[in-house]
Amino acid sequence: LRRAGAAVSSLFERHRAVAPDWLALYYRHPIEITHGEGRHVWDADGKKYLDFFGGILTTMTAHALPEVTKAVSEQAGRIIHSSTLYLNRPMVELAERVAALSGIPDARVFFTTSGTEANDTALLLATAYRRSNQILAMRNSYHGRSFSTVGITGNRAWSPTSLSPLQTLYVHGGVRTRGPYAQYSDERFIDACVADLEDLIGHTRDIAALIAEPVQGVGGFTSPPDGLYAAFREVLDRHGILWIADEVQTGWGRTGDHFWGWQAHAENGPPDILTFAKGIANGMSVGGVVARAEIMNCLDANSISTFGGSPVTMAAGLANLTYLLDHDLQGNARRVGGLLMERLRAITAGVDGVREVRGRGLMIGVELTRPGTDVPDPDAAAAVLEAAREGGLLIGKGGGHHTTALRIAPPLTLTVAEAEEGAAILEEALRAV
Ligand code: PMP
Repeated sequence: LRRAGAAVSSLFERHRAVAPDWLALYYRHPIEITHGEGRHVWDADGKKYLDFFGGILTTMTAHALPEVTKAVSEQAGRIIHSSTLYLNRPMVELAERVAALSGIPDARVFFTTSGTEANDTALLLATAYRRSNQILAMRNSYHGRSFSTVGITGNRAWSPTSLSPLQTLYVHGGVRTRGPYAQYSDERFIDACVADLEDLIGHTRDIAALIAEPVQGVGGFTSPPDGLYAAFREVLDRHGILWIADEVQTGWGRTGDHFWGWQAHAENGPPDILTFAKGIANGMSVGGVVARAEIMNCLDANSISTFGGSPVTMAAGLANLTYLLDHDLQGNARRVGGLLMERLRAITAGVDGVREVRGRGLMIGVELTRPGTDVPDPDAAAAVLEAAREGGLLIGKGGGHHTTALRIAPPLTLTVAEAEEGAAILEEALRAV
């Protein structure tokens, strides 16, 4: 448009003219979301949508949650200042609560402003602590978009440069139902992945860390059998390699059965480093790293984040965390997520082109393939997204290189009635496609 000198009118056209081409928005005609309440959002034309994706992006509990709105506006009216040069009460209080919840002994907490920056900090710690730039990461993983984190992202569709300051080896195991071990029993699958890990480590000396998402998020909500990372832990411990759990999508009870994703792999203890972000402050930008003091304190110079731990975002985090614990939203994720998963399995049973419904709690993936084949079908996934939008439902997509999985991750306060409503809209959309 700009090249043709045509008038640039709609917000989308203006976005296209000014934003990078690779900033690909959802939908042929992207939505301008103007406001939200509970599990619903509205667009600029006044159309109302049930939001089955915002829960993992930003809105952990509910849109416009009054408790968070109040905490944010009160704190914004009081003071917004740096938390790395001056004492800040909400930051210390949130750090204390996160440290206690993390399961990591002698935990220290450092706040950042995104998941990418949290993982970047984790890499800074692990590489400095181990004096090594060698990292193990999982195939099909996503850990962020900075220079270092794209270098540990196994999903090549999300790692836009092959240049990296790190040397990374990619491990099997994050995806249960594709890949060379897909047909194995859980036990054999774990054994094969452990053997693969041992083989990769081989004669390599001094690998710094293994980083893994307990349930792969962008990868399409895939996870290994419970216990895989505990089995990995035994091997890692033998080599002194640290374990970093990326809990950016799996933390705070979303997986239903556990507060953290790593707890499905807890047999040999907690991770050495844990990273979190996304919805902990219900959409305000908070990320962070938790690590044992010995690891956190290994840096021998100051490291600060001007905006990390900002009082307003910390106040939001405290209010949101209090709400989700007081209302047992982990339990809600287990109950309502379980019902939703059952319902989606029933709807899709025997439907040619739906390969799998998988996930945990309120993190559900539906993988689509070309009918009659096992070939991923990104066009179908895109078409279902459009059809669901028409029906008033927002969902996400993901799943490896092919973007062939629908991703469902509503705010954790989702009700049974809303789960039923969303499932019915999705059924219609699948039928239409
Ligand atoms: N880790 C995981 C597992 C993620 O899903 C994401 C975001 N999709 C990130 C890290 C990066 O977080 P952010 O977008 O806040 O930088």
